[in-house]
Amino acid sequence: MQKIMSDCVFCKIVSGEIASEVLFENHHVVSILDINPIHFGHALVIPKVHYRDFLELDPGCYTSLLTGARIVTAALVKGLNLEGFNIFSNNGRIAGQSVFHFHLHVTPRYRDDDIRFILTLKKYQNGELKRYADLIRRHIEVS
Ligand SMILES: [Zn+2]
Repeated sequence: MQKIMSDCVFCKIVSGEIASEVLFENHHVVSILDINPIHFGHALVIPKVHYRDFLELDPGCYTSLLTGARIVTAALVKGLNLEGFNIFSNNGRIAGQSVFHFHLHVTPRYRDDDIRFILTLKKYQNGELKRYADLIRRHIEVS
């Protein structure tokens, strides 16, 4: 893993090569406004080191990442007088990731804003709940 990827737009933002509207910055993370927002004020929280996705993150940056997300989210709530917000991350092209440098999205939500995740929830049939749990549990690794 490289610290900076020369073809990565977020690495270029972190280095200052590409201008951005920085909301917050600490030693490990930078938070900027997304230039293609779901709502105005939609923010991104980006580790300064290049990690492709959630599973590549160095556990040493978890605290900085979540602390940065909390600071920025609290500012969004106060600054935009929000009743609610979403925090999410897309990991992998199939999940909608478009910049392959891990980031958290923090987006404002408004009453009747007509933004929905269209989900058709499934029902586990006989034994499937345990079967899926077993498939996952056998790979739980605590380091
Ligand atoms: Zn990068």
